[in-house]
Amino acid sequence: MTSVPTAAPSYSAERQHAVAQALRAVLPAGCVLAALEDTKPYECDGLSAYRQVPMVVALPQDEAQVLAVLAVCRELAVPIVPRGAGTGLSGGAMPIADGVVLSTAKLNRIVRLDATSRTAVVQPGVRNLAISEAAAPYGLYYAPDPSSQIACTIGGNVAENSGGVHCLKYGLTVHNVLRVRVATIEGDIIELGSEAPDAPGLDLLSVFIGSEGMLGIVTEVTVKLVPKPACARVIMASFGDVVTAGNAVAHVIAAGIIPAGLEMMDQTSVRMVEPFVKAGYDQDAAAILLCEADGTFDEVEDEIARMTAVLQAAGAGAIAVSTSEAERLRFWSGRKNAFPAAGRISPDYYCMDGTIPRKNLAQVLTGIAQMEVKYGLRCANVFHAGDGNLHPLILFDANQPDELQRAEAFGAEILALCVAVGGTITGEHGVGIEKIDSMCVQFQPAELAAFFAVKGAFDPVALLNPDKAIPTLHRCAEFGRMRVTGGVLPHAGLPRF
Ligand SMILES: Cc1cc2nc3c(=O)[nH]c(=O)nc-3n(C[C@H](O)[C@H](O)[C@H](O)COP(=O)(O)OP(=O)(O)OC[C@H]3O[C@@H](n4cnc5c(N)ncnc54)[C@H](O)[C@@H]3O)c2cc1C
Repeated sequence: MTSVPTAAPSYSAERQHAVAQALRAVLPAGCVLAALEDTKPYECDGLSAYRQVPMVVALPQDEAQVLAVLAVCRELAVPIVPRGAGTGLSGGAMPIADGVVLSTAKLNRIVRLDATSRTAVVQPGVRNLAISEAAAPYGLYYAPDPSSQIACTIGGNVAENSGGVHCLKYGLTVHNVLRVRVATIEGDIIELGSEAPDAPGLDLLSVFIGSEGMLGIVTEVTVKLVPKPACARVIMASFGDVVTAGNAVAHVIAAGIIPAGLEMMDQTSVRMVEPFVKAGYDQDAAAILLCEADGTFDEVEDEIARMTAVLQAAGAGAIAVSTSEAERLRFWSGRKNAFPAAGRISPDYYCMDGTIPRKNLAQVLTGIAQMEVKYGLRCANVFHAGDGNLHPLILFDANQPDELQRAEAFGAEILALCVAVGGTITGEHGVGIEKIDSMCVQFQPAELAAFFAVKGAFDPVALLNPDKAIPTLHRCAEFGRMRVTGGVLPHAGLPRF
C-alpha cells in the first residue's frame, strides 16, 4: 500500500529514554529497540494505510520477561500494543505514539507435541503453519488455516479468532484452542480453558479468544490437532452471474453438505489472480466457486458427486474436479494468493471483512456492485462463501486526492449493509482501528458499556491496546450514531478509556 506519513511523536526524548532504560534493566541486551531505524519496521500491520512509529519496542524471550515488561509499563503508565507477525488487517497491532510494542517474535518455541492426545503446546510467536509442519510426521495438523499462515502467529490468531478456507468444516481458532496462558497487566499468570475437553467455571477462554490484545498477553497456547484426511478433492465451478453463484452456495449447504471449504471469487478477482498464479481459473466466468471434499476415498467420491449435482442444478456452467493433489493445491493457490495479487492491478487495496447470513449473499453482492458506481472505485470480491464471510477488496490509489477517503466510506457502507441484512461488521480480521466506527452501527450503548466492563475487569488501568476495537460512547456520538439528549451522552458515568 502507498505510504502515508507517520504521525509525529507525542513524547519527549526524556520520556523515551526513561521507558527504554527501565525496560533494558529487565530484558537481555538487544531486546529493547528505541532508535528510529529499529522501531520504524513496527509502524503498521497489514492495514498499512495507517502508521505510527512506536516510542519503544520490547522483545521479551520468555514468560517471566513478558511479566517484567508489563510491570515496567504499569509502573510508568505506558500503553502496550502486543504484536505477533504484524499481518493483521484491521490495525490491531498498529503502535500507539507514546506506547511500547510488545513483540512475541522471540517466544517462538513449540513446547510439546503429543500425538496421543492430539495436542500441541506452543509459545505465542510460533507461526500457524509451523504447527502443522511439526505435526505432519504424526499424520496430524492444526486445522484453522488463514491465508497468511506462512507468517502469522498463533498468538495473533488467538487475539483475532482467525479463520481460513477450511474453517467451515473444522471451526475457527476458538473451536481449536483448548487452553491459553495469559500474562495480565496486574502481574499474574492465569490459565483459561484446560487440556480436558471442558473446563470448570465461566467460559473465559471464549471471552479471551478474539479480544484483540485488550485483555492480556498470550504466553502459551494449547491447540487441538486433527488427523490429516486420507483424501481431498476440490471442485471449481463457473457461473455466468454472481447472483446465481451466491444462491448456489446456499443450495450446497441446504443439501446437508458441509464442504471442507466453500469459497467464491468474482470475475475481477479471478482476472487479477490468474495471470499471477496460473491456477487454471475460468476467466470468462462472472464468478467461480471452489468446493472441497475431504475424508476417506469413498466419502470424498460420494460428496464430490453430490456437490456436482447440486451445483449443476443451481446453474453452474463449466465444472472441473481436481484429479491429483498437485492440481488441488493449484486450484487453491489462486484463492490463497488473492490479496497479494491485488497489488498487480491497483496501487492500493482496502480489504473489508464482514459476515452475512448465507441466504443474503446475492443481495449483498448486488449492493456492492452499486457502491462501485457510487464511489467510482472497483471492488474485487473474494470470500469464505460457506461461512458468509465477505472479503471485498476495494481497489484505490492513495496518491489520488480523496481516493483513500472514498475507499473508507465505501468500506463503511459495505459493513452497514452487512448489519442491515442481519450480519456483523467482522468475520475474522477483528475490529482494531479499522472498524471501530462501524462498532457504533452494530452495537447499542449498553452493549458497548458491557464490553468496557469486561475490559476493565482484565485491565483496570486501561493500558492494553487502548482505543482499539471498542469505541467510546463519545466517539460514537461524534460518528453520529448515538442519540445525545440535551448535550448529555447516555451512560455519562461510564469510563471513557
Ligand atoms: C495476505 C493476508 C491474508 C490473510 N488471510 C487471513 C485469513 O484467511 N483468515 C484470517 O482470519 N485472517 C487473515 N489475515 C489476517 C491476519 O493474518 C490474522 O489476523 C492473524 O491472526 C494475525 O496474526 P499476527 O501474528 O500477524 O498478529 P498481529 O497482526 O501482530 O496482531 C493481531 C492482533 O493480535 C494481538 N496480539 C498479537 N499477539 C498477541 C499476544 N501474544 N497476546 C495478546 N494479543 C496479541 C495484537 O495486539 C493485534 O491486536 C490475512 C492477512 C494477510 C496479510
